[in-house]
Amino acid sequence: MDYISTRGSAPALDFEGATLAGLASDGGLYVPREWPRFSSEEIAAMAGLPYAELAARIMAPFVGDSLAPERLLELTTQAYGRFAHKAVTPLKQLDEQQWMLELFHGPTLAFKDVALQLLGLLFEEFLSRSDRNLTIVGATSGDTGSAAIDAVAGREKVDIFMLHPQGRVSDVQRRQMTTVLAPNVHNIAIEGSFDDAQAMVKRMFNDTAMTDRFAIGAVNSINWARLMAQVVYYFAAGLQLGAPHREVAFSVPTGNFGDVFAGYVAAQMGLPVAKLIVATNVNDILYRALTTGDYSQGTVTPTAAPSMDIQVSSNFERLLFDLGGRDGKAMAEQMAGFEATKAMQLTNAQREGAAALFRSARADADDMSTTIRWAWENCSELIDPHTACGLFAARTAGIDAAVPVVTLATAHPAKFRDAVERATGHRPSLPARVGDLFDREEKCVELPGDYATVCEFVANIASPKA
Ligand SMILES: *Cc1c(COP(=O)(O)O)cnc(C)c1O
Repeated sequence: MDYISTRGSAPALDFEGATLAGLASDGGLYVPREWPRFSSEEIAAMAGLPYAELAARIMAPFVGDSLAPERLLELTTQAYGRFAHKAVTPLKQLDEQQWMLELFHGPTLAFKDVALQLLGLLFEEFLSRSDRNLTIVGATSGDTGSAAIDAVAGREKVDIFMLHPQGRVSDVQRRQMTTVLAPNVHNIAIEGSFDDAQAMVKRMFNDTAMTDRFAIGAVNSINWARLMAQVVYYFAAGLQLGAPHREVAFSVPTGNFGDVFAGYVAAQMGLPVAKLIVATNVNDILYRALTTGDYSQGTVTPTAAPSMDIQVSSNFERLLFDLGGRDGKAMAEQMAGFEATKAMQLTNAQREGAAALFRSARADADDMSTTIRWAWENCSELIDPHTACGLFAARTAGIDAAVPVVTLATAHPAKFRDAVERATGHRPSLPARVGDLFDREEKCVELPGDYATVCEFVANIASPKA
């Protein structure tokens, strides 16, 4: 399988190349040249497979010649062996229509582990084939950072520099990053919002002064391999609820549009998806884009669901590219307009294409806490504020009563204990697998929100590419 850039001018790469490159050199995002499609019979034959085998089966067409099928299965088996639940992503029924897919049984308690545990292994595998060093630079609103650091800490030939907005991630999230003392892990607390940090990272990817010296890799969901790994659990849930013979809807707490884009990919591959519900908090650029066609950046309001406190959703570009007829030149122009004015209108084709599959709902602080309380009082489930946005959207989106709705539970409630306790009076306890998080030493530097300072910090530590 070949990967092409959404902006049309970067060279096409194979899976290995796209995984190591992260962002395309023209500023676009890599997408597969075409969507592989499974027949109903092929999907039916996947029912009951163990998760690691299902993962290898779904990913094989995307990986192509970059990995032998047996090696891919070894890597998925290793990655998902670290999860604390045998089913990896267990599905729970909440009421007649509502279901919850628990994606937080990995080492750092959020769904990011599902993709990043595998991505860490893919980096190691591909780097071991040649004499290259990789410098991962990422921005996190909390969960990507901890999951990425866990996945690459101590690995050979990789350094990771992780920027988080200072004071805007939870204590558990921060400590999961800063208490990893491996010498290849570099935490940077940056002044500003997540969007500021992400903008700096994107700039570095396009800065030849940096890219000439360092092979800069991405762990954010701009990296295609992450989205690919997330497609698997849509199939896992769909199969359990009767796919390919029955349609299923999914409600997805959304920030950078990565997780829900993986649902879109699952639908392109043949999974019968009735609707994808894009759940946002009050940082609602996607809600506005999907309901009115207006994709314009607002200011970021901190909420109890910080991993969704985002006003620029990188992966939305992948959807717009696909819905707009895969015209890289047009996409480059549309994005240049957005970058200049911080606003754009979806084209008619983009609006109509999105309307066919997507719904959107927006949860404010009250909706979140009411939903956390509802789940506790009616289903005896403690859910985190991100999952609550998803469940709120699932229950209010007006999906046909005959269609099961699966909310993706993206974080463990213990990761956001204060918000959960405020809503329910009940404090979720940290699972044993995170151990003595609050007693460990922290390592982190604080830097001003200044691009040159961040580059200098990275350049002083990172290893040149070859
Ligand atoms: C990252 C994250 C999200 C948002 O996912 P995207 O792929 O960025 O849309 C939602 N909830 C939690 C807990 C997260 O960590």
